Amino acid sequence: MNREARIFVAGHRGMVGSAIVRRLQKEGFKNLHTRTRQELDLMDRTAVRAFFENVRPDYVVDAAARVGGIAANFEKPVEFLIENLTIQNNVIQAAADFGVTKLLFLGSSCIYPKLAPQPLCEEALLTGPLEPTNDAYAIAKIAGIKLCQAYAREYGKNFISGMPTNLYGPNDNFDLHTSHVLPALIRKVHEAKRAGSKDVSVWGSGTPRREFLHVDDLAEACFFLLENYNSPEIVNIGCGEDVSIRELAEIICDVLGYEGEIVFDASKPDGTPRKLMNVGRLLASGWKPRIGLQDGIRDTYEWFLKTC
Ligand code: GDP
Repeated sequence: MNREARIFVAGHRGMVGSAIVRRLQKEGFKNLHTRTRQELDLMDRTAVRAFFENVRPDYVVDAAARVGGIAANFEKPVEFLIENLTIQNNVIQAAADFGVTKLLFLGSSCIYPKLAPQPLCEEALLTGPLEPTNDAYAIAKIAGIKLCQAYAREYGKNFISGMPTNLYGPNDNFDLHTSHVLPALIRKVHEAKRAGSKDVSVWGSGTPRREFLHVDDLAEACFFLLENYNSPEIVNIGCGEDVSIRELAEIICDVLGYEGEIVFDASKPDGTPRKLMNVGRLLASGWKPRIGLQDGIRDTYEWFLKTC
């Protein structure tokens, strides 16, 4: 990629988009284009098309989405479905119509069926029913993948799709009601430690297993895909290792230096029993993750202390 290329990162305020912008800046790209929601409402088709017509990006990374953890997804299926479909339709269609050379669409591991064999292979897409606690988000993301693939087949567009596993890192959402488990537990353990509480509450049974990738590793993978990957076939992005929620809580207690007890709140849902990606396709093309879970949590906690 030419360092002068015009690159539009949609969703640059979010955890993923901001990490991708940091990565591209580090690589020496000078012509990065970002817009806040106030400057450009990605739900507004006319505004999105005017932006593309005016800026004429060469590359687009679509990291704009309404995202949230298990509770937020379950409570707001209408918003998760409509906002994500609208944003991605606007961005992908404008990219096609205004001559974008390459587009990277970011999905999620929740696109795979609830009971698909683990680790989740790319081939598992649409082979069974989805996990109901986040099916609205998953359906929207699947539609985005299909739109990119349709543009590739029908119009020869180089629109690719990456499927990140559970991500965490700077700029994550630490709101206890809407966040994912890792930032939620950082906040809970931090507050339990500060308050001198004798225990900290973890939702569900602690037995579900999840894979966690630091968002800087994701950003590096995205850059790698932009430079090296040109197929409409989706690619999983993860580290290929998972931990139970109990183990995650123990690691967070350890990193934060909290010695209280971990108690499990069985009134809260477990969600899908396991979510581990098969990352063979990406590893085979030469990329590998670099940030271990302990180091990544330490880094994220430092950001949390500075910011929240
Ligand atoms: P998911 O990966 O889509 O299921 O979303 P989450 O990251 O929200 O939840 C992952 C797992 O962590 C589920 O089994 C949750 O019940 C569990 N969990 C434990 N404590 C918490 C918490 O405080 N917040 C969240 N969001 N999940 C938690």
